[in-house]
Amino acid sequence: MNVRCGRCGSQFDVPGVGRHVCPVCGTPNEVRPAGNPGGIETPPAPPPPQDRPSPRVICPGCGYKFIVGKVDTAPCPNCATPVSVTGVADEGGDAAEEVEGE
Ligand SMILES: [Zn+2]
Ligand SMILES: [Zn+2]
Repeated sequence: MNVRCGRCGSQFDVPGVGRHVCPVCGTPNEVRPAGNPGGIETPPAPPPPQDRPSPRVICPGCGYKFIVGKVDTAPCPNCATPVSVTGVADEGGDAAEEVEGE
């Protein structure tokens, strides 16, 4: 793998993680496993998948926003209108008013 010296910026090849001395300036460079932010050049870790346990829908009848489970339709708790859950789009995500059903 290729690392960049944190002091002089030289790139050099190392066999793997660990402590490696820059061949140009002699500065030891700590090479960490991928995913740890350490200033060493490593491929950026992919962002964690959005964990959305419950989709949120908006009742077309009254505009009430509520969280539903993995069902096709859910009755609105406010006006009892059946609301289609399939193809629900993210509404921008104001997660502050999430209601977890116990
Ligand atoms: Zn160096
Ligand atoms: Zn409703």
